[in-house]
Amino acid sequence: MSSRFRIRTYGCQMNVHDSEKIANLLHHHRWSEARGEDEADLLVINTCSIREKAEHRLYSDLGALRAWKRAAPGRALGVGGCVAQQEGDALLRRFPHLDFVFGTHNLRRVPAMVEAARAGQRSARVDESRSLERFDWPERHPATSEHSPGRAFVTVMEGCDMFCTFCVVPLTRGREISRPARDVIAEVEGLAARGVREVTLLGQTVNAYGRHDVRRGRAAAAGTLGFAELLERLAGVPGIERIRYTSPHPLFFDDALVAAHGRLPALCPHVHLPAQSGSDEVLERMHRRYRAADLVRIAEALRAARPDLVLTTDLIVGFPGESEADFRATLDLVAEIGFVDAYSFKYSPRPGTRAAELPGAPEPAVAQARLEELQGLQRGLTLAAHRARVGTRTRVLLEGPSRRGGTQLTGRDPYHRVVNLDAAEAGLDPERAAGVLLEVEIVEATPHSLIGAPRVTAGLRTGPGQAKFRKSPSGPGPMRTVAARSGVRMPGID
Ligand code: SF4
Repeated sequence: MSSRFRIRTYGCQMNVHDSEKIANLLHHHRWSEARGEDEADLLVINTCSIREKAEHRLYSDLGALRAWKRAAPGRALGVGGCVAQQEGDALLRRFPHLDFVFGTHNLRRVPAMVEAARAGQRSARVDESRSLERFDWPERHPATSEHSPGRAFVTVMEGCDMFCTFCVVPLTRGREISRPARDVIAEVEGLAARGVREVTLLGQTVNAYGRHDVRRGRAAAAGTLGFAELLERLAGVPGIERIRYTSPHPLFFDDALVAAHGRLPALCPHVHLPAQSGSDEVLERMHRRYRAADLVRIAEALRAARPDLVLTTDLIVGFPGESEADFRATLDLVAEIGFVDAYSFKYSPRPGTRAAELPGAPEPAVAQARLEELQGLQRGLTLAAHRARVGTRTRVLLEGPSRRGGTQLTGRDPYHRVVNLDAAEAGLDPERAAGVLLEVEIVEATPHSLIGAPRVTAGLRTGPGQAKFRKSPSGPGPMRTVAARSGVRMPGID
């Protein structure tokens, strides 16, 4: 029997995709995935350091894993991801039962580090790389592809040059680097040939793709394009029915990207627009380089291009210096834009970031009360948006059995909403339903998801607004507006 591994993944979709890449490499090195950690010979923890809580979780996990390591001789334990990138071999010193540590640019070394660990050598590799080699991966192993049939992540750029004052990502993921478009297109063509219908393009500031190459006049040499042009090319790949992208930065919603949402049917009518705050003063201290009014203008422009488009966001409360009035401005922004969902958190200072030095953080109890009020507002907006969907039709890409159990299946519609439905009603085997695209009618709304009933008739309605594609409006778009309003030079654009 081949050796077996498990991977615990924390954090963002980029981390999820990194774990897929590690699993893919291990499969190519004749490892197979264990059904549980008890059966595993190798355990990798892929960490996140975006919030203090995630980092503490790693330390508590590692403490608890002493017993796992001792339970069977020859077991190997590794840590990767953003905490590994920041802490390096300090983790080896702190946890003697830990065998190897690899940074965000060193995923490809994992099989060799595992072999070394099994030969008794502990190691840490956290060197940074500017090389495009980091995007070269072996073809997806069949065992990896089976995990999420029908859907796939595709990295288009990595790193971040924006240096928001609260964020560790520029420290853990390094500087921006974009992948040549021909490689992205070839990967998507290969995925489509294997039955993938939905791709999610990944990058820390995904819509900044190629901007440095365009600005320096070396896009042709680097093989990159503007982000909207890349979307256009990918929309032309036969078999690809849905394209998503995450996470964009509000600053890089240019006219071309907004117009793409009106023009490309494959581009999903959902945009994650990370606002972070509705207060211009707080946004300034966060070094976000836009104002609240710019977010409203971007939302309006996107909805003008694609009327059924839904918006979700990220929000931070309790940032240093956030006054009650600042917080009220965030509530006002959320209500004005009408986000369909939000990931909201209390600010937690991260070592090495500029915000960690800023004074004036609200008392923890105040921050907690603000978070609860914000989440209460968002819950109401989410439920109202879900209720408005009842009676509309949509297409759901099924992901497999639902956590609700029984014969329930779960999937996502083009608006990235979770839709649950009954497998028996759809005539599907729950274990083989992943990857199926099904037309459903929304029959019920819950606070977190929608309930659908399978429909096979023609005459699909498209959900919120039941929009038809429209030509996008002419005139100055949101990117020019953001630049003009904020008075900053927009990196790579102006
Ligand atoms: S844009 Fe800001 S929040 Fe996003 S990854 Fe870069 S530094 Fe972090």
